[in-house]
Amino acid sequence: MTTTWTSLKADCIACRKCSLYEGRTNLVFGVGDESAEVMFVGEGPGEREDQLGEPFVGRAGQLLDDMLAAIGLDRSKVYIANIVKCRPPGNRDPLNVEQEACIGWLRAQVQLIDPKIIVCLGRIAASVIIEKDFKITRDRGKLYDRGKYALMGIYHPAFVLRDPGRRPEVFEDLKKLEDYIKSHCISTVCE
Ligand code: URA
Repeated sequence: MTTTWTSLKADCIACRKCSLYEGRTNLVFGVGDESAEVMFVGEGPGEREDQLGEPFVGRAGQLLDDMLAAIGLDRSKVYIANIVKCRPPGNRDPLNVEQEACIGWLRAQVQLIDPKIIVCLGRIAASVIIEKDFKITRDRGKLYDRGKYALMGIYHPAFVLRDPGRRPEVFEDLKKLEDYIKSHCISTVCE
């Protein structure tokens, strides 16, 4: 099924497939270049994201911006979305039932964007998108070739904020991402 951005956004805003919509201020659909070659997927909106309706605008978002800048990117050159589009109360992890209810919206976004690589931010996104038993400390930075798309999981910026000793590993993984972009992406310039 192919749809348009306008109808996808309208349908997503009207979604009542799980109860998270009841507590949200704003739906956090996604941001960036709608034909990006590089897509980042987080877990779900936090408080600030819920207030502003944009993913990764809190402290973790500032670190994500720094991570992008480290490889010459910014949020206008990529697309950023989450597994769930409405804020789980108290910033808890999204429940399986909420992830399953919401994943169709992300699938439709991926279909419209048609990226070359999807970078999963943290264990939850990676276990949904890459493989169920993805272990972030073991599997981070590995490239998974899934035919149409390449996939990679890296640490979630919120995790790195809690454990700054992880920074060198993040930058190692970002270097791999940069190499991938330089060899596979035509219109994404890391500068
Ligand atoms: N953490 C996420 O996983 N997504 C956001 O949008 C913000 C914080």
